[in-house]
Amino acid sequence: MKYFSTRGQKEGISAAYAIKQGLASDGGLFMPESIPSLSLDKIKELCKEDYARRAAYILSLYLTDYTYDELLSDCVEVYGEDRFPGGAAPLVKPEDGISVLELWHGPTSAFKDMALQIMPRLLSRALEKTGEKRTAFILVATSGDTGKAALEGYRDVPGVRISVFYPVDGVSRIQKLQMATQAGDNVFVTAVRGNFDDAQNGVKRIFSDTEAAKKIDAGGCFLSSANSINWGRLAPQIAYYVSAYCDLVSRGELALGEKMNVCVPTGNFGNIFAAYLAREMGLPVGKFICASNKNNILSDFFRTGRYDRNRAFYTTMSPSMDILISSNLERLLYLLAGSERTAGYMKKLSTEGAYSVEPDVKEKLDASFCGLFADEEKTAAAIARSFKEDGYLCDTHTAVALSCAREYIETTGDRTPMVVASTASPYKFASNVLRSIGGPAPEDEFAALDELEKKSGVAIPAGLASLRKKEVRFDRVIDPADMLGEVYSEMGI
Ligand SMILES: *Cc1c(COP(=O)(O)O)cnc(C)c1O
Repeated sequence: MKYFSTRGQKEGISAAYAIKQGLASDGGLFMPESIPSLSLDKIKELCKEDYARRAAYILSLYLTDYTYDELLSDCVEVYGEDRFPGGAAPLVKPEDGISVLELWHGPTSAFKDMALQIMPRLLSRALEKTGEKRTAFILVATSGDTGKAALEGYRDVPGVRISVFYPVDGVSRIQKLQMATQAGDNVFVTAVRGNFDDAQNGVKRIFSDTEAAKKIDAGGCFLSSANSINWGRLAPQIAYYVSAYCDLVSRGELALGEKMNVCVPTGNFGNIFAAYLAREMGLPVGKFICASNKNNILSDFFRTGRYDRNRAFYTTMSPSMDILISSNLERLLYLLAGSERTAGYMKKLSTEGAYSVEPDVKEKLDASFCGLFADEEKTAAAIARSFKEDGYLCDTHTAVALSCAREYIETTGDRTPMVVASTASPYKFASNVLRSIGGPAPEDEFAALDELEKKSGVAIPAGLASLRKKEVRFDRVIDPADMLGEVYSEMGI
């Protein structure tokens, strides 16, 4: 299987190179030359397997330069009980018609663990497979959860260093502490003045700076990404939709071949695009509900066919979705419109901040996607409703999706069983969760954790409980313009 840029560069490369490189040199994202197929018979077989085996099989279809045994041994290692107590992607059913796919049982209580626990191993093998001698320097812009999950995944992995930049006012206090107290000898964490897009654009600038690349190369390093633009981040995510489907079939909630719908709280469009790929492989899925918060650029896009980032940016209680440029949307556009038009859209996006897709593309979008959004009020109401009616506590991001899923079902009458992706533990956003269920929310976030534990009767995840005793290691705040200099100094060049 070869990988090609979404912007039309002719040369294809292997999965190992795509994972090592992150972004294509024409600025595009890597996509497989074809989408492998997944038959109903195979799905039936996977129903009997555990999560690690389901994931290893899906990965083996895409990463053909890795052996199945390599992938299986990595998946068994990361998706086991010690890293994901209670299972990697359990499916629970708090209310009629809606199942919730809990993707946050990993080490950092965020769904990004699902990909970021396995990706360092894929990269490590990629360095070996490509005979790489330089140090891989992972550069990450995060709106909160990615940073911690990446730091935890890459820490002390030989041959790799990782540097994380986060917007100084764009993450919760707990998220900040999770990153600032990160252990490991190969990790760097820096706050950037501005919002997530400022941090992400800073990282993108460094990646596309050819002068910097020469200097970095001479210094014995090369840049690689852990953001969801990296194929190694995206591919592992396909598996949990296959897994959710298998679980629905195993429980008799779906007959093999019957469709489910999927609703995903969306930021960078990685998670929902993985679901789309699963369907393109053959997984029976009807509609994809793309759920946004008050930053509703995607629901506007799906409604109108025009993507327009010239708008206000809001800081919400679901900060991992506070995004105006959803990078992985480019991969969907590439599949629907081809590389030439995609390159054109992306050029317009960078020069004018907006682009419109043609009617044929809009029609294809309509056939699969429905974009909805929940503002702050609806988000809080969704948390309250689940807690009061079903005794189910969800985080703010999951609440955005639950709100949109219910709205979709009520307004369309489509009763296809709905799977809602749940992307963070409620404890990661304890104050807002408490406020939403009508409790007093203590100023102090740790007091909020205790309060939430009392209210819900669910234990605080170990990684969060231990935070209050940890020492802060990283407290630097810089301007976006100084990010490259920061990277040089971290590399010691
Ligand atoms: C990253 C994240 C999202 C958005 O996922 P994308 O793949 O970027 O669309 C949603 N919720 C939480 C909690 C996240 O950390």
